[in-house]
Amino acid sequence: MKRNIIAGNWKMNKTQEETKKLIADLIPLVKDAQCEVVCCVPFTDIDVARKAARGTNIQIGAQNVHWAESGAFTGEISASMLKELKVKYVIVGHSERRQYFNETNGTVNARIKAALGAGLKVIFCVGETLRERESGETQKVVMTQTHEGLEGIDRKGLKNIVIAYEPVWAIGTGKTATAKDANDTIKVIRKAVRKDFGRASGNSIRIQYGGSMNPANVDELMSMPEIDGGLIGGASLTAEKFARIVNYQTND
Ligand code: PEP
Repeated sequence: MKRNIIAGNWKMNKTQEETKKLIADLIPLVKDAQCEVVCCVPFTDIDVARKAARGTNIQIGAQNVHWAESGAFTGEISASMLKELKVKYVIVGHSERRQYFNETNGTVNARIKAALGAGLKVIFCVGETLRERESGETQKVVMTQTHEGLEGIDRKGLKNIVIAYEPVWAIGTGKTATAKDANDTIKVIRKAVRKDFGRASGNSIRIQYGGSMNPANVDELMSMPEIDGGLIGGASLTAEKFARIVNYQTND
């Protein structure tokens, strides 16, 4: 059985003091969650977040990782550095990294390989822009991103990857894909995984939806058969909102 996974992407928010408070507020609110719970915090908050969450069901993640083990890469962080901080998950290929930091499918692929090599789990983001959606390219874009992002990874590695489908036009905009649209595109992504890795791997990989997921729409989105979780930006910065998402309710 797959276990659903809800992850918060804090982006460039929260000081260490604010981190301690948010994690402390979250702990009692999410302690009975049925799904995996992850908070992907800024690098500078990792250590305090992990200490604050010790002994609870909240796992700590990072938001990026470099492909090299070490070297002259000013401003970057290696997978072994994250591993040393006991990080469990790392987000790779978020659209903000693709948009503002020239991330390509090739660099995403290299970062995923480095993360897996160090024993980290990966939340690998794909998704189309508004222009791509309006010109009918959604399926082609997500299939290419999936195929190129996962190139050279074996089935064992794939087990440590969660894909996040995040339509770029829905991130931080308050616009959400309809549950049906999100479900349909995730089906396409799953098909791409099946093609490259076989039916069983395609069926078992967890695929999240992300893009303005919030307490009001989470139940409907999580009721869709293809959606195995959520990647949450804005709403993950408030304990009550994130907890309501983590404690989503479906009829099944
Ligand atoms: C994200 O940053 O991954 C995200 C989905 O953001 P938001 O929930 O704010 O749209």
